[in-house]
Amino acid sequence: MPVRILSGKPIADAIKEEVRLEAADLREVHGFSPCLAVVRVGDDPASGVYVGNKVKTTEELGLISIHHHLSSETETDEILQLVRDLNENDDVDGILVQLPLPSQIDESVVLESIDPAKDVDGFHPINVGRLSQGHKALAPCTPAGVIEVLKRSGIEIAGANAVVVGRSNIVGKPMGALLLQENATVTICHSRTRDLASVASQADILVAAIGRAGFVRSEHIKPGAAVIDVGINNVSDPKQAAEFFEGEELEKRLAAIKKRGFTLVGDVNPKDVMEKAGAFTPVPGGVGLLTIAMLMRNTVDAAKMRRGI
Ligand code: NDP
Repeated sequence: MPVRILSGKPIADAIKEEVRLEAADLREVHGFSPCLAVVRVGDDPASGVYVGNKVKTTEELGLISIHHHLSSETETDEILQLVRDLNENDDVDGILVQLPLPSQIDESVVLESIDPAKDVDGFHPINVGRLSQGHKALAPCTPAGVIEVLKRSGIEIAGANAVVVGRSNIVGKPMGALLLQENATVTICHSRTRDLASVASQADILVAAIGRAGFVRSEHIKPGAAVIDVGINNVSDPKQAAEFFEGEELEKRLAAIKKRGFTLVGDVNPKDVMEKAGAFTPVPGGVGLLTIAMLMRNTVDAAKMRRGI
């Protein structure tokens, strides 16, 4: 059976369209538009791109966007004051503080200061706790996007053996909690896991969130498995690119390295996954596209929950 490529774009577009329609309905029936406030601190260029995309999508879908850009010298107290103001502002439904924050700022103190009802990134301990207890919660956007890809691609989660490689607070751990909520049998692996290949190769659903280009290879993949690649890595060495791609795709990747200095590669070796998996999400063009769509979804959900709709 040829491998099924699970493209993120049609799924992200469908979710965004649902959000747009729901926002229009809230405007017409309830007289308000959900509002997302994004806080950026400092001048990290990658954060600039992420925040720009979030603001643009918020506006495109008919939600209200507030954007605060603070200087890189900002201290923790100043951000806490801004978050307090946003918490108290009844027109604001979602608050997102773009990570990473400059080193002088205590990230966890800032994240814990966000009103859990407005915590659209799902990083507040209250939402983490609710999620792990199986209650309704604002869930982190990237793993929530993975669940949407699986469900909307008709991949059975209930009863499946799901293995997540990576245990970060933003991807691996919430991914495990969400898969468990969907009744998968879940194993979470990490750098201290013994014989990763023997564990991973039992997975009907394998999620890679490691941060190492092409780390997951043939020996980690059960024939026919659904392989979800969350990783985003820059590869600038043409020799390394040749380990992952061949033919026309390799030509395209080499051209990208020549032009911009790098090409994007996930945590899964794409050559190996093509030969062995039943379905997989490509990088780029896979689950990465879901993150902003799920942020929009969370903003509308937060607005409705907080306003009792
Ligand atoms: P972290 O660095 O926070 O976590 C990586 C995890 O991988 C850790 O739990 C680590 O284990 C584990 N790991 C590292 N090496 C190995 C190994 N040799 N064997 C098994 N496990 C290993 O990364 P994130 O979770 O933040 O991100 C993971 C990837 O997902 C990155 O490529 C990132 O760019 C991408 N990402 C994509 C997003 C999107 O699509 N929108 C959003 C967020 C992330 P240990 O805990 O033992 O150190």
